[in-house]
Amino acid sequence: MDVKAIRGFNDVLPDEIGKWQYVEKAAREVFEGFGFSEIRIPILEPTELFSRGIGEATDIVEKEMYTFTDRSGNSLTLRPEATASMARAYLEHQLYTFDPVAKLYCIGPMFRYERPQKGRYRQFYQIDAEVFGVENPMVDAEVIVMLIHFLNRVGLEKLELQINSLGDRSCRPRYREELKKFLTSKSFQLCEDCQRRLQTNPLRIFDCKVETCQAAIADAPKVSDFICSECQKHFDKVKEYLEMAGLTYILNPRMVRGLDYYTRTAFEVVSYQLGSQNAVTGGGRYDNLFQEIGGLDIPGIGFAIGMERLVSLLPKEKEFVLRPDLFVAALGEGPFKEAYRIINQLRLAGVRAELDYESKSLKSQMRRADKLKARYALILGEEELKKGKAVLRNMATKFQEEIPMANLLETLKDRIQQNP
Ligand code: AMP
Repeated sequence: MDVKAIRGFNDVLPDEIGKWQYVEKAAREVFEGFGFSEIRIPILEPTELFSRGIGEATDIVEKEMYTFTDRSGNSLTLRPEATASMARAYLEHQLYTFDPVAKLYCIGPMFRYERPQKGRYRQFYQIDAEVFGVENPMVDAEVIVMLIHFLNRVGLEKLELQINSLGDRSCRPRYREELKKFLTSKSFQLCEDCQRRLQTNPLRIFDCKVETCQAAIADAPKVSDFICSECQKHFDKVKEYLEMAGLTYILNPRMVRGLDYYTRTAFEVVSYQLGSQNAVTGGGRYDNLFQEIGGLDIPGIGFAIGMERLVSLLPKEKEFVLRPDLFVAALGEGPFKEAYRIINQLRLAGVRAELDYESKSLKSQMRRADKLKARYALILGEEELKKGKAVLRNMATKFQEEIPMANLLETLKDRIQQNP
């Protein structure tokens, strides 16, 4: 076949899907336990939502969005992230009239026209969680605690939680100016992109991977030296609540996060098992986003976890592939029909049962049972069947026993319980 998937767009195949389902299930359980509800938002939005919400001077809006004009001449964009859409939905449906505090999560694909490499794709999945309507630093700590709890629950190890405060509308402009002044004196060291960023969004230079740019910012002023007393108080409280919850963190004054809308608390969780694209998740507080898209003063905080990176870090020894509990191998026409009857019955009773659709030799049927990693095989022959019996084989130990067909379900459940 000549038609292939688009570069940077991946298929998640059946042998991988178990990991994805496992992670998604854990996310739902953990987040719902923390009082979050799922929200499903469209994949396409008006371009303006992102250009205003994320900010014109960000990499995403400047060069990474999949934007096109539809048949009616509207400019639409495949969502590059979920926060702006969730905020739009909160405003559009006036969720705040029911309760000003909304705790929402969303799982789905995002689209960014980035250069594909390991851990970076053009369609990638995120698990997003956001809290709207709470200014209290307790909630900053709450979302971070939930995030770490979730990552530990799915078995991730060797993680590092990094936090920073980015200041707010009152103190960040002064920092921005200082940073700009400092970097202007080093502008000859900056790459072409950063020369532009210097004018539009100097904080972004921290995220640039070019070596000379990294060297230029090595001694740059730190945002933490510029934040106002209100922001400092907020940040101190966040740290206190994190400590109360028993979390350890690293202060990273150079972590600025890519998007314009972040204010105050910013955080990332990195894994040293990941290589250059080492951020598993990132997030922060954004008290200006709602102003940009709806003119309301509503605070928000949240994070987005990259599914591909998370899945690649899952413990290797854990089994994620769904295995049949029972493979029914039938020898001859009568047993084949009986096999069909039995698997229907077993499936209705919740047993994962499989059979071979072609009546082949016992050997080839057992080969298939092996390939599917079935736990047990039931071998049905004409003679045994006449006596109401069949052979049950434990595929791992190869132990075989003759069992009465009348108690098949009970016997099977009993054996599976003994050998899960
Ligand atoms: P961001 O929305 O940029 O803060 O990203 C949040 C998380 O999404 C990151 O920590 C990554 O795990 C993941 N992520 C972001 N961009 C990509 C991408 N292009 N491909 C795969 N994962 C990504």
